[in-house]
Amino acid sequence: MIAMWMNRKRALQLTAWFLENQRDLPWRRQGDPYSIWLSEIMLQQTRVEFVKERFLQFQKELPDIASLASCDEERLMKLWEGMGYYSRVRNLQKCAAVIMKQYKGKLPEDPLVLQKLPGIGPYTAGAIASIAFQVPSAAVDGNVMRVYARVKGDRTDIKSAKAKKLYQKELQLFLDQNADALTQEEPRFVSLFTQAMMELGAIVCVPNGLPFCRKCPWRNDCTANLNNLCEEIPVRSKRKTRRIEERTILVIRNGDRFLIHRRKKTGLLAGLLEFPGTESRLSVSEALHKAEEYGMTPLRIHVLPDSRHIFTHVEWQMTAFEIQVSDFELTDGDYFWMTKKELQSVAIPSAFHAYLDYYSIR
Ligand code: SF4
Repeated sequence: MIAMWMNRKRALQLTAWFLENQRDLPWRRQGDPYSIWLSEIMLQQTRVEFVKERFLQFQKELPDIASLASCDEERLMKLWEGMGYYSRVRNLQKCAAVIMKQYKGKLPEDPLVLQKLPGIGPYTAGAIASIAFQVPSAAVDGNVMRVYARVKGDRTDIKSAKAKKLYQKELQLFLDQNADALTQEEPRFVSLFTQAMMELGAIVCVPNGLPFCRKCPWRNDCTANLNNLCEEIPVRSKRKTRRIEERTILVIRNGDRFLIHRRKKTGLLAGLLEFPGTESRLSVSEALHKAEEYGMTPLRIHVLPDSRHIFTHVEWQMTAFEIQVSDFELTDGDYFWMTKKELQSVAIPSAFHAYLDYYSIR
């Protein structure tokens, strides 16, 4: 038996607060299923301010599911450049292709059907179904978990599957029992409720630092606020420490051309373009030796600034060299020569942006 915290009065307090206080976000203004889906995928792992800029640009280039499904891969990667987690955009395109083929170009409304599509998990399915189609379907993300743990005063670890399952079940039960009646009072109730839960977590019941309880519609009802527990709840298990990897970037140049490598099709940054390099820290003589292993004749070398890039589970600490080489023929199809101009038109992952900036390529 679930002890349900949510009730109709609290739900309506929340949606009323949302209507007064929501941020003006481009996908909210548009409100169509494609915009909702695209924004939800972009917002996974990326800050809302950054997504705001990129969302409009992406949508201008690919305004609908059909154009996304048929977009050339290189152009698609370029549109996603800097957002990271490129598997998201690959899945977006795969999903668009399935929608074109099996669903006549329209996103399905049923969250259980949505969950079977590439790149759409239970949270995203719930968000699309409820926000775009008013289907009563709970969408529990990190923001919602934090808010819910606080209002209930629940100390279950919010990183655990148990907490997610518990809150998902409770909110779904609430919607199943009350969405019809509440929709009669406010026709957009389901959509507003989902967005309001996320918005409260994003701008009031914030993740870092103390929440702004005085601005919260539930301040007189919230267990954490009433009992001064906001610093203790939510409980989160400790993050694993990030693995450090040392790497050497070789910016190999022949005249004004740069040697570029396509990464292998699996693993981190799968299939993307990069400056070649090694998964270890090389000295000057080792870097020259490496160039010779590629079959090149190095003419001169100079040391470039170090840089680092942080991924979720790993940090790259990079040493780099520029090596000018004499002309030679490339035999491996995963290596290309590219001019500055050509490099500007393809996607290079953020991990290498320090070196693109060094050569004023971006
Ligand atoms: S009252 Fe404070 S802790 Fe409780 S939900 Fe609102 S912002 Fe979060």
